[in-house]
Amino acid sequence: MAYLSDPKETIAVLQRYHFSFQKKFGQNFLIDAHVLDKITDAAGVTSDDVVLEIGPGIGTMTQVLCERAKEVIAVEIDRNLIPILREDTCREYSNLTVINNDVLKTDIAALARERGGRPLKVVANLPYYITTPIVMGLLEKHIPVDNITVMVQREVAERMQAGPGSKDYGALSLAVQYYAETYIAAYVPPNCFMPRPNVGSAVIRLTLRDKPAVQVKDEKKLFAVIRAAFSQRRKTLVNGLANSDEVSCTKEEAAAILAELGLPEAVRGEALTLGQFAAISDKLPE
Ligand code: SAM
Repeated sequence: MAYLSDPKETIAVLQRYHFSFQKKFGQNFLIDAHVLDKITDAAGVTSDDVVLEIGPGIGTMTQVLCERAKEVIAVEIDRNLIPILREDTCREYSNLTVINNDVLKTDIAALARERGGRPLKVVANLPYYITTPIVMGLLEKHIPVDNITVMVQREVAERMQAGPGSKDYGALSLAVQYYAETYIAAYVPPNCFMPRPNVGSAVIRLTLRDKPAVQVKDEKKLFAVIRAAFSQRRKTLVNGLANSDEVSCTKEEAAAILAELGLPEAVRGEALTLGQFAAISDKLPE
């Protein structure tokens, strides 16, 4: 069995299939065995797990996952990669299902249901151009998932993990932390990929909470408040709420809510915790 974590093997496969990288699909293949171990270790993949791999590429991580997990479902958009996976690099793995589809159009809940509804582990070196829709889709649709352990752009991992007061803190931090606990497992430099990306990368694990971090009367309203707070970052929260099309409240009403919660009238969203956003959202007029 030839492992693709050896860059010579990756080059041999690419040449055998005259494969050319498609920039539009965010194709940067891993070529570092140590990083593969870091991701699968962080995900805690065991022989009981069903793993969903998003974007298997030529199968570099798929090989490791198939050897560790009970079953692997790999969803890949680029049809040129399918014969490589099925007939070559992963042909020996009977526990692998390769699906040629756009992951954003794949019914992942149905895949989990067909396997008895046990929570999946999602593991991926993500295509960076659609990191947020993929991750938020998995979180918001309440798909049974144990953890999502993914390689993303370093800056995105830092935004997901950031807390109040940090320059990286924003709507993405709050949305992710509402559903999951975050842990950055590794920082990964460009030379671990072929071709090398222009940005640094990081492996982040999102462990899904049994229930959201805060309880609110209306989840949609909470996220509308968060968007209003960060859509105009340098404005005060009072102005952000009063100017928002999604939240119906006047400047005076917003100021009164902040006063009730003991918050300064000039406070900005970047200083507020998820709990404070929840309290504001619950006090807004219907
Ligand atoms: N897992 C491989 C590795 O680590 O070497 C490849 C990772 S590469 C960063 C991202 C992969 O996602 C590519 O194989 C790309 O074709 C695939 N991809 C891009 N957009 C996709 C989508 N919408 N649905 C499924 N796969 C996608």
